[in-house]
Amino acid sequence: MLAELTGVTKAYDAAGNTPTSVLRGIDLAIDAGETLAIEGRSGSGKSTLLNILGTLDRATSGRYVLDGRDVTTLDDDAIAAVRAETIGFVFQLHHLLPQLDVLENVLLPTLATTVPGDAEARARALLERVGLADRIHHRPGQLSGGECQRAAVVRALINEPKLVLADEPTGSLDRENAESLAALLTELNRENGTALVVVTHAPDLARRIGRTIELRDGVLVAR
Ligand code: ADP
Ligand code: MG
Repeated sequence: MLAELTGVTKAYDAAGNTPTSVLRGIDLAIDAGETLAIEGRSGSGKSTLLNILGTLDRATSGRYVLDGRDVTTLDDDAIAAVRAETIGFVFQLHHLLPQLDVLENVLLPTLATTVPGDAEARARALLERVGLADRIHHRPGQLSGGECQRAAVVRALINEPKLVLADEPTGSLDRENAESLAALLTELNRENGTALVVVTHAPDLARRIGRTIELRDGVLVAR
């Protein structure tokens, strides 16, 4: 088992008002190497759930065990260290830094942790794998949306994470680029044995994924 949520709830405090209960008891187990799609209406709590899985946010109650460690008991520094070595993120917008070139951007996560091997060699190989070999020294502003998103996928993989979390990764792309990014994400996941959890509405992406669950009224239902 790579990641396991047990009885996880999340309520957001609205200053002075009744807290909004978004997650109401999530039980979810993710195996090493598996692919999982999370669907649900806008506002159903998909990003909230992904942020908890990514340790970017904490559950209000419940337990989260990631890679054998109960992160609910760890302090923020310890969680940041676990996150840096275990998790890669892809967001709807690429969040590349505009003043850095592609190679520098994809190497950023390696500054936060000790990664085995030659990170720059791995970055160059991965950038070639995703078709960006001749864009390595371009800045994000000189690339198309699809190219930026492919660079963001390389950045997510650079520390050889066990888990990649992608929040509507094709949401900002046109159909053709969305299709190729969906193929890329799932192929790289298979090649590297990385687990992939993806929030998506895109049928192109969802049909490549092993298991789909839906978030409805704060709980998960099988699809
Ligand atoms: P989804 O990704 O499925 O669209 P979100 O997880 O972003 O849903 O949001 C779920 C609910 O939680 C929404 O009603 C949203 O307004 C609320 N919410 C999300 N983040 C916060 C926050 N930081 N503070 C207060 N409410 C929030
Ligand atoms: Mg969302």
